Amino acid sequence: MPLLKRLLAWFQPDTSRPLTQAWLAALWMGLAANWPLWQQLHALPEISGTRGLVFIVAFAGMVTAATGALLSLLAWPRLIKALLAVLLLSAGALAYFIGSYGIVFDPTMVVNMVQTDVRETRDLLSWRLLLSVLLLGALPAWWLLRRPAAPRQAFAKRLGGNVAAFGLGLVAMVLLALSVFADLSSTMRNYKTLRYMVTPLNAVYSISSAALRGQAAPSGPPAVIGADAHLLPRAEGSKPPLLLLVVGETARAMNFSLNGYERPTNPELAKLPVLSLRQVTSCGTSTAASLPCMFSPLGRAAFGDVKGTQENLLDVLQRAGLAVLWLDNQSGCKGLCDRVPNSSTAKLPEGAAPLPAGLCDGEECFDESLLHELDKRIAALDPERVRRGLVLVMHQMGSHGPAYFKRSPPDLKPFQPECKSNALQQCAREQVVNGYDNTIVTTDRLLARSIAWLQTQRGRFDAGMFYVSDHGESLGENGLYLHGMPYAMAPSEQTHVPMLLWVPEGGGLAASLKPGCLQALRDKPASHDNLFHTAMGWVGARADVYKPEWDLLAGCRS
Ligand SMILES: [Zn+2]
Repeated sequence: MPLLKRLLAWFQPDTSRPLTQAWLAALWMGLAANWPLWQQLHALPEISGTRGLVFIVAFAGMVTAATGALLSLLAWPRLIKALLAVLLLSAGALAYFIGSYGIVFDPTMVVNMVQTDVRETRDLLSWRLLLSVLLLGALPAWWLLRRPAAPRQAFAKRLGGNVAAFGLGLVAMVLLALSVFADLSSTMRNYKTLRYMVTPLNAVYSISSAALRGQAAPSGPPAVIGADAHLLPRAEGSKPPLLLLVVGETARAMNFSLNGYERPTNPELAKLPVLSLRQVTSCGTSTAASLPCMFSPLGRAAFGDVKGTQENLLDVLQRAGLAVLWLDNQSGCKGLCDRVPNSSTAKLPEGAAPLPAGLCDGEECFDESLLHELDKRIAALDPERVRRGLVLVMHQMGSHGPAYFKRSPPDLKPFQPECKSNALQQCAREQVVNGYDNTIVTTDRLLARSIAWLQTQRGRFDAGMFYVSDHGESLGENGLYLHGMPYAMAPSEQTHVPMLLWVPEGGGLAASLKPGCLQALRDKPASHDNLFHTAMGWVGARADVYKPEWDLLAGCRS
């Protein structure tokens, strides 16, 4: 009874065969590791009732068939087990992040991950992540690794079997797609991010795409911009400019009481003559995407088309003759400060007093450590340049999540109780918001104290402050947490950022502006596109790349 035997064999597959292992893993990942995707699809209003159920089942079949088809080509003894183990573990981790935070795993996310440092990654670890990796990844991987060695088979025969399985997988995928084509095409058109939720294909696609992009970038020094950079002559008797440029982190505009938020998150700045611009949008939704774009003269629309790297605002200011210092309290400047003096809060200047107790725990510092011994840091710069003017950039840790509770010092937590877990979805939303708002209060105090320090410099400099955050944050709105959504689909919580200006009365800059003109900027739309040009105009620097129409202050100069 060869037929019956064959049928039975089909139901009891020989799990030592690489091809069988590939398809079992595809089935497991397609169905189990993609639970966040099935949950998300199920929640869509368009997908309901029996028709919706049929769609989800067909979609799951498509994911399984596509994964199985690709894995078939790689189903070779020795290779397949190791490959599947890595994929299963990754799928377990991805299921956790997609399911918990609603993140999507696109190429930008890969760049973010590579550029994030260890302490930030540690914030993301939790017991639930471990559980997800164990159940969805380690358990099936362990089972797989214990399968007996693959039976011997001629190369040609195995190749033929693999190619046939690949073809069958593709055919199955196409047939399933056609069977629900109407729903499929409209869903994929309306919810483009869904494709980045398909595990593990999202990881394979995004990692290879990010790697290819990295390969494509020409190496070597960045292209020169603003080669003609120079300073405008300063009026007789005027002081050199000191611009403190504070690069915020993960602060969203709507949680600033200066912008109308109902909770008092800006108690210190509210007492100061600070102008808050209320309609500012970011260039990206992650640090890696925003920072290079913010410091470029090109603006968001043109920045993506640049091939290779270009110099940035800091290079141009330095070429104009000014002193520049980048001071970091985060994971670095993403290459922006490579050619200018730079330091970090953990690296103290020579002869500096040690950091006051409680500011740093040995691994991470509160943002207030940015203000420690600033005078000594300035004294270490080229005095010739400092006499012409100084641009000091402070890069905050700000509101970096998900461990918001780690970003505010113990004496600065007015909103209670706050979420003490890295797994935000384990906390009540209210606690997440409390923890986040405490980070905004911390930034509020940092900026107020920065202004107090700038006041002490006014005998020597014409001091001012310009603050803007790199991107916003989702705090559970529509089930989304954190940031990094593809820009076109990102909610405004992730792209609407705070921007503050402090231009003190009696200073040279204030005197050069039409009275009351600055206030009119408050509700005018602005964006990261304005940063380069506003900073250039602020310190009296000019170059061919400077566009006065993007300089927020240009229209106010008398
Ligand atoms: Zn950021």
